[in-house]
Amino acid sequence: MPSTTVGEEYEALLQFLYMAPIGLVQARSDGEILMVNPICAQLLMPLSRNGELTNLFTALEGLAPDLRHRVQTFESTHGMICEAMHLQINAGAQGRKDSQILSLSLLKLDAERLMAVLSDVTQSVKRDRELRQSQAWINTLVTGLIDYALVALDECGRLQSWNASIGRVTGFEQHEVVGQDYSLFYPPDGMSADRVLDRLHEADESGWSLDEGWRMRSDGTRYWGSCLIAPLHAPDEAQSEARAYSLIIRDVSDRREATEALRNSVSCDHLTGLANRRAFFDGAELELQRWKRAPRPLSMVMIDADHFKRINDLHGHAAGDAVLRHLAAGLSATFRAIDVVARLGGEEFVALLPGTTIEGAEAVALRLCRSIAEQSVTVDGTPIRYTVSVGIAAMEEGVEGINTLIQRADVAMYAAKANGRNRVERWHADRGRAPSAAQPT
Ligand code: GH3
Ligand code: MG
Ligand code: MG
Repeated sequence: MPSTTVGEEYEALLQFLYMAPIGLVQARSDGEILMVNPICAQLLMPLSRNGELTNLFTALEGLAPDLRHRVQTFESTHGMICEAMHLQINAGAQGRKDSQILSLSLLKLDAERLMAVLSDVTQSVKRDRELRQSQAWINTLVTGLIDYALVALDECGRLQSWNASIGRVTGFEQHEVVGQDYSLFYPPDGMSADRVLDRLHEADESGWSLDEGWRMRSDGTRYWGSCLIAPLHAPDEAQSEARAYSLIIRDVSDRREATEALRNSVSCDHLTGLANRRAFFDGAELELQRWKRAPRPLSMVMIDADHFKRINDLHGHAAGDAVLRHLAAGLSATFRAIDVVARLGGEEFVALLPGTTIEGAEAVALRLCRSIAEQSVTVDGTPIRYTVSVGIAAMEEGVEGINTLIQRADVAMYAAKANGRNRVERWHADRGRAPSAAQPT
């Protein structure tokens, strides 16, 4: 290894200081400049009145008149005399077009020597100022907003902090809710624990997650609101504990009718008011993606009116329509707001139940079956009784897409028809020996 002498090392150090990307000056304690690197010369030269750069205090006299005094009165043998002091060179001074801000740090090396570090911080000071200004604007907006509530959520969707307008929108007091998750703003059947996290994941994946629908105030009254969730962390922190989100809740009651009308025109079945086939596939696809990300119970229930053709034949098509509306109302009353319930076509309906096992789905289906069989629909004074057959299937590994799940529920539903109607059957791999014989009593 080549040996270096102390002298060589000192030379290398000087060389480094000379080339450093910040302005460096070495001066005597009376300000006389011993060494100045090119960047520093560039910064100081325009300040010099006679084109000479011999004394640091003289060069900076216009900007920091007390520098000499500071050095003289600095008592320690060495140390920082000033650190990152901002020196403002105004536009117009020394023939300048724009103002400039220099940052000066002055170090006393020993009784004889000073070292000054100078840099041009004009841009970063400007950026800093802009940032503070937009922060101030945002704060003004946020505290002045009436119909928006801004909430910060942690990685589990629990409330961390919020702005004052949350009380105006939701009726909750801050101390009541900090630490609880945001499902608190939804009606009880409008949000599940899984869904709380699903929406955070969706925000991570696509940058935001928006939903609009019924929300609940602290006093239990409902309003039509939109909830926008967006990540506050950087994309590469999506796996980390440091995840945080912002939630913006807005009372949009005034646009409910317009939104619902639009939604209905594209996704609603006109006869029954339930979701239509297309909306069902959209909703089901989302549930399927959630299942693929984190497999959790997910069941499908297929419902078909029994001998419906006979109802039409006996009572007329309009009576048949009334029966379909009655059945749809029964489905709405049976399933939860987070279930995806739709009319697939004709007298066939479907429901996808997130977070529900096949046993759970079977219990709900039996309840539905029983309740329909017990009721009658009165059309033009004539009571009409009808029943439904129900097939159920659960999402599991190997089920490719939503169509396969529908197919399975359909197979189970036809098994219910074959086994006498007004009953519930589960899908089973061996169709010939469908095991369940769960029946409404
Ligand atoms: P199954 O118990 O095997 O299901 O017998 P079904 O008579 O219910 O089944 P099928 O498929 O033979 O007949 C369904 C009938 O539903 C035929 C069709 O005219 C009627 N239908 C389809 N859509 C509507 C509708 O919107 N309104 C009315 N009133 N009838 C409809
Ligand atoms: Mg039928
Ligand atoms: Mg049918």
